[in-house]
Amino acid sequence: MVGGHGVDLLRWEQRMKAIMLSEPRQIGVVDLPDEQPGPGEVTLRIESCSVCGSDLEGFHGIHPKMTFPRVMGHEVGSVVKAVGDGVGLSVGDRVAGTGRKACRSCEPCRNGRPAECANPGGPGFTAHGAYAESMTVIATELVPIPENLSFDEAAVAQPAAIAYHAVVGRAAIKEGETVLIQGCGPIGLSAMMLAKLQGARVISTDIVDYRVQKARELGAELALNSSKEDVFAPIRDMTSGQGVDKVIECVGADQDETIPQAVEAVRSSGLVVVVGSFASNRATVPIIDFKFSEKSLIGSQGMPEGYGPIFELMSFGKLDVNRLISHRIPLDQAPHALSLMDRKDEDVLKVVLKPQT
Ligand SMILES: [Zn+2]
Ligand SMILES: [Zn+2]
Repeated sequence: MVGGHGVDLLRWEQRMKAIMLSEPRQIGVVDLPDEQPGPGEVTLRIESCSVCGSDLEGFHGIHPKMTFPRVMGHEVGSVVKAVGDGVGLSVGDRVAGTGRKACRSCEPCRNGRPAECANPGGPGFTAHGAYAESMTVIATELVPIPENLSFDEAAVAQPAAIAYHAVVGRAAIKEGETVLIQGCGPIGLSAMMLAKLQGARVISTDIVDYRVQKARELGAELALNSSKEDVFAPIRDMTSGQGVDKVIECVGADQDETIPQAVEAVRSSGLVVVVGSFASNRATVPIIDFKFSEKSLIGSQGMPEGYGPIFELMSFGKLDVNRLISHRIPLDQAPHALSLMDRKDEDVLKVVLKPQT
């Protein structure tokens, strides 16, 4: 028997497993209703969901946008398992992204038009996300995964696309430039690899040795532990005393060291791009030097270029995000994943949750 929206009702599983963050640091496995898709919606079977640094901020209750209780997860590779009316996707399609989630309470939602929701939520932040076996979302922003890319790669394409926007969009890195990339997490390492693809020389910094080593392995011209080594002398050596052309800040979180360092490291008229997600609305800028040497400081948010450019680089073999994946684990070990990331244990970089295993 097939339901009105192409849903096989006999085979529809009524419940699904998810990981609920009921309040900061309170996390566990829950059983939730598995929603059926309304018009314009699809239900996704989550194959891969990678754990983001902002999930860790959410876990600690310091993410500026996350609300509770929350199923986190926004870096997703999935298969369409059911489609509502008027959706261009088919059951079995492999897709990346989360789309938006209908609120189920506004006027269009209550009248059977969830795709026109007046208050759609962002899955993983203001609506339930993909630390789950499945997820029902508005279909429009989902993107087909290229045939030669895996679900894991599709999930990790999301932070790589954020790095792409910073490197190619906001910083407009060009051949021959020297760039300092602060942070050797998944976004910082993606930014480093993308800046090199643009033809730049890259200096990467972090405060964790194995991450500095990873940047070196993945091709940074110079990789430094900024908690142990002077970063300014090597930068002067590499740039005839001028400073780097551009800095991309990929650290964020609860610290005030990277912005002053970035502004100091960049040359006169140079550019600092902030992509790191900070915990508080405050940073120190060496304002006298900044003004006199006409430096610029700009932000970079999200991935407005979408998945297109990053999927192209990945499927042509120019960018290998598999090298950023350190762990693949079942969904119910999500709390363990967060604790690994908290303690920077087991040389953790990107953890991919596998809800179907
Ligand atoms: Zn993220
Ligand atoms: Zn709504």
